[in-house]
Amino acid sequence: MIPCFDAHCDTITAVLERGGSLLRNDYQLDLERLSKYAPAAQVFAVWGGRYEEKAALLRAELEGSGLGRLCRSIAEARETAAQGRIAALLSLEGMEQLGCDLARLQRARDEDGLIMANLCWNSDNALCGSAMDGGGGLTAAGRGFVRSAQAMGVAVDLSHASERAFWDTLELSARPVLASHSDAAALCSDYPRNLTDEQFTALAKQGGGAGINLCPDFLGLTRDVDAACAHIEHFLALGGERAVFLGADLDGIDDLPRGMRGVEDVGLIYEALLRRNHPESLVRDIFWNNLADILERASG
Ligand SMILES: [Zn+2]
Repeated sequence: MIPCFDAHCDTITAVLERGGSLLRNDYQLDLERLSKYAPAAQVFAVWGGRYEEKAALLRAELEGSGLGRLCRSIAEARETAAQGRIAALLSLEGMEQLGCDLARLQRARDEDGLIMANLCWNSDNALCGSAMDGGGGLTAAGRGFVRSAQAMGVAVDLSHASERAFWDTLELSARPVLASHSDAAALCSDYPRNLTDEQFTALAKQGGGAGINLCPDFLGLTRDVDAACAHIEHFLALGGERAVFLGADLDGIDDLPRGMRGVEDVGLIYEALLRRNHPESLVRDIFWNNLADILERASG
């Protein structure tokens, strides 16, 4: 069986705002299709506000499906996945959704098991500059936020943060840091959301890593499964054997790589990597172990 542990999807926002269920839908990801993988785990992001409603909906949909459960830690996720159920984890894409407020973050950690948070989304906020906006570094509040989030066991996610905020965060981080859905700028520099070689190398060195985003505009090249493999191989060549994982951004992106319909086709990348002569142990690391280990160190 092919394992699948992915660091970012926006499916819960699609279900809340456009209707349908998490069990079975016409979006890019649902639990039925995800359950074809074993073990299976998925980080579900809250994006676009309505945090409490989305966290409650995720929990209710998981319980109603009988296929998975919301986990508070990687230990719990490993246990759930080992029982053949989908391990779901909760993240927050942009702290402005909680008013950049540490007390609200602590409550989300305690009550919902929130395991990871992006400093910002596509606009600058009170914590830092965004890669898609002003580009400033961490503010004083942002510095305090990084220290406190890491102390409370919420992993810091630097996808969407500006490059200056990225380096500021790495400098003061006591724990590994992730970029949950960002590709290699060396292969596609059209979007400032991708990581430079220096950024990825620094993440790998400090025990963190990056998730491969399947947005064709981020991948560039041939915009297909081979392009996703090329980004993975680029990160591997930078010493990323333990630092590259999946962060497909399903239901956060309009298009998928050519030949892919949704989460059911993420396994095509697994098979393509094997065909490209990567040892299966390495491919399993990319599809499961790397994200589990990094997130465990970042949040445990
Ligand atoms: Zn995003």
